[in-house]
Amino acid sequence: MTRAPRRIAFLDRDGTLVWDRPGFYLRRPGQLRLYSGTIRALRLLRGAGYALVVVTNQSGIGRGFLDIPMLRRIHRELHRILKRNGIRLAGIYYCPHAPGVTCRCRKPSPYLARRALRELRLPARGAVIFGDKRADIDLGRQLGVTTVHLRTGHGRDQREKHGKALRPTHRARNLLEGVRWLLRSAHTDYGRP
Ligand SMILES: [Mg+2]
Ligand SMILES: [Zn+2]
Repeated sequence: MTRAPRRIAFLDRDGTLVWDRPGFYLRRPGQLRLYSGTIRALRLLRGAGYALVVVTNQSGIGRGFLDIPMLRRIHRELHRILKRNGIRLAGIYYCPHAPGVTCRCRKPSPYLARRALRELRLPARGAVIFGDKRADIDLGRQLGVTTVHLRTGHGRDQREKHGKALRPTHRARNLLEGVRWLLRSAHTDYGRP
């Protein structure tokens, strides 16, 4: 049985849940490819009481690679694939703006994550963010939550590019390894009042 969520796991989409690499931009539902450990990782998080919230920068909209109806189709497909595997996302929050455009929602801004906390009425305390980019880690740091940097997607490149400026709580090879670390570490207070 899955318990009612008591805190949030923020998940980046591209390069964290679904396959990504530098130079690639997901523009159609048919291009969605989950990493092999994604389903298992999300099940573990749900089982440990985390609400699953995707926070994603979709600058492809601002840059004209795809439009919002297409993004919605992609997200419906993602929901469908996960639901088929017994996994429910509490929400997908996206910034549609191009980099360089002044907006308040583009990661590393914690704007969308804060909105999710408010809408789900869950505390930032005990929350965690998983992502492959520095923006994910910087967002998490601003929220004061546990940050896990993954080597999938742009992860390896980002590590080279940002070096010591990229300071996550933990580094993992992929989402599943990051989740396993979280659930056995002191960073989870599951079970305590
Ligand atoms: Mg990413
Ligand atoms: Zn934005």
